Order: sequence, then C-alpha cells, then structure tokens
Amino acid sequence: RSKAGGRGTWRFFEPAMDASVQSRRALELDLREAMAKDEFTLFYQPIYDLRMDRISGFEALLRWPHPKRGLVPPDQFIPIAEDIGLITPLGEWVLNRACEQAAGWPSELKIAVNVSATQIRDPRFIEVVASALDASRIAPQRLELEITESVLLGNSAETIATLHKLKAQGLSIALDDFGTGYSSLSYLRSFPFDKLKIDQSFVRDATATNGSKLIVRAITSLGKGLGITTTAEGVETIEQLNQIEAEGCNEVQGFLFSRPVPATEIASTILNLRGGLARRQLSGAMTG
Ligand code: C2E
Ligand code: MG
Ligand code: MG
Ligand code: MG
Repeated sequence: RSKAGGRGTWRFFEPAMDASVQSRRALELDLREAMAKDEFTLFYQPIYDLRMDRISGFEALLRWPHPKRGLVPPDQFIPIAEDIGLITPLGEWVLNRACEQAAGWPSELKIAVNVSATQIRDPRFIEVVASALDASRIAPQRLELEITESVLLGNSAETIATLHKLKAQGLSIALDDFGTGYSSLSYLRSFPFDKLKIDQSFVRDATATNGSKLIVRAITSLGKGLGITTTAEGVETIEQLNQIEAEGCNEVQGFLFSRPVPATEIASTILNLRGGLARRQLSGAMTG
C-alpha cells in the first residue's frame, strides 16, 4: 500500500477505524500534501498604536485554503501539524513569507509572527530566523516573535537562552494570550519580554464583568511597571475600545479596526486606518 494510492487505500486496509480517527488521518495526509504543494497562505491583521494613533504593524496569521474544506482556521490544523512534526517546516515557511512580505511595506511597520513551542526548541531556530531576516533584508527591529506561555513551561534554560539570543539579534518578543496559560508571573522575571498581549477573552468581557475589567487593569499596570508595551487583542466594539483605552493599554488589535486580510489588501487597510478609527467609522456609516 502506497501513499500514491491515496486516502482510500488507507481506509480500505483499516476498516475498523472509527470516523474521528479516519477524519483525523485524512486531515494529516491533506496537511502533508498542502505543505508539499505550497498551499498555505498568510493573512495579516493590523496592530493599532493608540499613542501614535496609527498602525504600528501587522500580525501574520496562517490560513489553509483547503480545496474541499474551505479556509481551515489555524486552531484546527496547527495542533495536528505539531503532532506530526510538520510545524517546524511550516513555521519556517511562515517566517520567510512574512518577512518577505514586510519588506514591501513602509519601513516603520513591524511584522509579528507566531511561533510554537516546538519551533523554539528546534536547535536550528536561531539560524532559521537569521536567514529569514537575511533573505528579506528587513531590519531585525521590525520583526516581533509572539510566543505563548506554553513555550515557557518548565522554565527550560535552553528556551530562555534561545530567547535571549534572538533579542540580542535585535528582534522583539511578545507574550501572546497573556493570562490564559499556566500563568506563573515568574516568567516575567526569567525573561525581559517586550510586550504583553492581553488575551481576547478578558478584552471581550472587560465592558461586562468587573473581574475581566480588573484583569485588564492589572495586566496593563504590570506592563507599565515593567516598562513594556501592552496590547489588547480582540477589540470588537467602540465600548471595548473606550474601556481598554481608559485602562491605559498602548495598542489594540481586533475586528473593530480590521479583520485579518490577505496581502493584497494591506495597502487599502493602511489607507483605511490612516487618520484614525473615527474617519473609518464615519465613512463606514455613510456607505452603510
Ligand atoms: P493569536 O496569535 O492569539 O491570534 C489572534 C486570533 O484572534 C486570530 O485568530 C485572529 O483572527 C483572531 N482575532 C483578531 N481580532 C479578533 C476579534 O476582534 N474578534 C475575534 N473573535 N477574533 C479576533 P486565528 O487567525 O484563527 O488564529 C488563531 C491562533 O492560531 C492564533 O492566535 C495563534 O495562536 C495560532 N496561529 C496563527 N497563525 C500561526 C502561525 O503562523 N504559527 C503558529 N505557531 N501559530 C499560529
Ligand atoms: Mg498572536
Ligand atoms: Mg493572542
Ligand atoms: Mg490565541
């Protein structure tokens, strides 16, 4: 039985597999094929700086346009890519593609790239980052890596050393989804992060529940104390924006400003948000 026989062949020889195992295996095979065929794409979501009142950069978000399943969201395939050892080459592709794209943008705009724990533990990772910077010729100061608390689980000396080496190259490191992981604030002592990204679950509820409001306030004040940037993720309404701004968050990201867009819509997104959100809201209201 060969791979060339296609998915049907595997199913034929393993008739006892239940539906979920079968669909999982189908997804794995599709993922490998997509990698081989270069079928992934990146969308970009603006990060808006409230102090400067302009876009400070874009976050690259991986998309998989599947011929039959449609646009598969990353939450559905990145964990599988991790399991089957595909995240390292896929993550390398993301880094290269994102840097290459950013090379065509105004040079004050940064590019944020999500990296998984597995990628960071790969001994080649520093080299991979250096080579993406080299090939695209963007300044390292324009690249920001977003990691989640899971990367720091176990407080491994190697991981911390890797992060220090990356920072020494000039790029910055953001702690993503802050507050949702197995948060131990001691992480903030082991490594000098440049940014805390407040998870969208807190942002969403900040206008509704006192608990979430207080968490946003605490993280913002923590960031201030540490002298680093705080970014609120998932801002969808004006009310949330007002709340977040009142708490003193530095940056916001969310559907209120823009959904993640394909590379072809970067220029129009920059134009839309030039002059701030007010004008955009106004023109949105006028065009219905
Ligand atoms: P994340 O890094 O926390 O990215 C933010 C997620 O929130 C994105 O989902 C984005 O589309 C979504 N989002 C942004 N604004 C709003 C909003 O106002 N409302 C709502 N409801 N959602 C909003 P997405 O693109 O589905 O990505 C999900 C997660 O997948 C990311 O969370 C990140 O952890 C992971 N991911 C995405 N791209 C990559 C990648 O290239 N490599 C790795 N390792 N992980 C990635
Ligand atoms: Mg992120
Ligand atoms: Mg996040
Ligand atoms: Mg997330």
